[in-house]
Amino acid sequence: VIYLDYQSTTPCDERVVEAMLPYFVHNFANANSEHILGKYVAETIDKIRADIAEMLGVVSQEIIFTSGATEANNIALQGSVRYLIDHYPKTKRVITIATEHKSVLETVQNLQSIGADPFILPVQSDGLIDPDSLKAALQVPTILVSVMAANNETGVIQNIPYLSALSHEYGALFHCDLSQACGKVSEKIQLRSWGIDLASISGHKIYGPKGIGILYVKRKPRVRVEPLFYGGYQERGIRSGTLPVPLIVGLGKAFSLFQNEGNEEIRRLASYKRFLINELQARIPQVKINGSIEYALSNCVNLQFPEVKALDLLARIPHLCLSTGSACNHVSMPSYVLQSMGLSEQEVLSSIRLSFGRMTTKQEVVETVHDLYSAWYDVRKGT
Ligand code: PLP
Repeated sequence: VIYLDYQSTTPCDERVVEAMLPYFVHNFANANSEHILGKYVAETIDKIRADIAEMLGVVSQEIIFTSGATEANNIALQGSVRYLIDHYPKTKRVITIATEHKSVLETVQNLQSIGADPFILPVQSDGLIDPDSLKAALQVPTILVSVMAANNETGVIQNIPYLSALSHEYGALFHCDLSQACGKVSEKIQLRSWGIDLASISGHKIYGPKGIGILYVKRKPRVRVEPLFYGGYQERGIRSGTLPVPLIVGLGKAFSLFQNEGNEEIRRLASYKRFLINELQARIPQVKINGSIEYALSNCVNLQFPEVKALDLLARIPHLCLSTGSACNHVSMPSYVLQSMGLSEQEVLSSIRLSFGRMTTKQEVVETVHDLYSAWYDVRKGT
């Protein structure tokens, strides 16, 4: 089996698991407890929080641990909009883009129930936002703009510092879902200098454990978010609940691994991606890349295969773990991300997404090219 679906999730790095293990049985105390065991765990978490904050160019108090990016997106969007609708009831618009992950799109659409006015911005055929269309949407007083840094189906990378500056010019807050960009872009992610007010990150996309993520909430000037649920006032009351210490330790290790090894990994995966595209296009010249080629992650590609249905192709190569769209979307539903980039139904249904990661080998890439080509050839010939 060859795993080519690192955008949907990554395996835990073994070094992450090793770092986590002592925190299940030995250092198991509640980080809020006053005793010596609790204090030890609290100090460990403080150190991890400070290290992660430093890597992201922010301060510790701005980092909130959540159960993942879905929860971080929900708190960022619902929490900030609830506060602002209460305090500035005349400003209602919340803007996001058509290719966002469902945890942003559905949340923004549901903000209508608390009086907000959701506005879904279309994207261009390359998946990028046209800044003029954002400017036009911002002519109506806007609470918040939410734009993902990198797309989970196409890998297309938006110009976040530019879009956040534009949003601020019109007085709107800026939220960014960094789930797919974190650990995968060579440029260092610097939340403050990128002009981000609220951000979301997921542990299981960066070789950390599932069930942990980060919400960044800017402190100066202070961004207010109301909690989605109430409890013991952990995480500054923004996210109550006993801290999942082993998961936080794993997340911290995952961050330090990509801090040390990330650039080398990105270069290696970029060379695999170039190899795969060149070799496939040499055999099947009509293979097309969906989305911007220039502004895209180096570990993934979304490809359109001529004259075949992607599901027929995948049925021939069950040992290749890749997909036709997001794992969060129902498989029988054609990708709304590709549809919103203007692809026809037939083009959408002939597209697959493929992503490499830390454990991918060159040999696997060579086999993938060979097997994809043979499957395409057989399906087209109907053999
Ligand atoms: N946002 C994006 C862009 C994603 O790709 C994902 C994962 O599928 C999420 C959010 C959800 O992350 P989590 O699984 O941590 O809730």
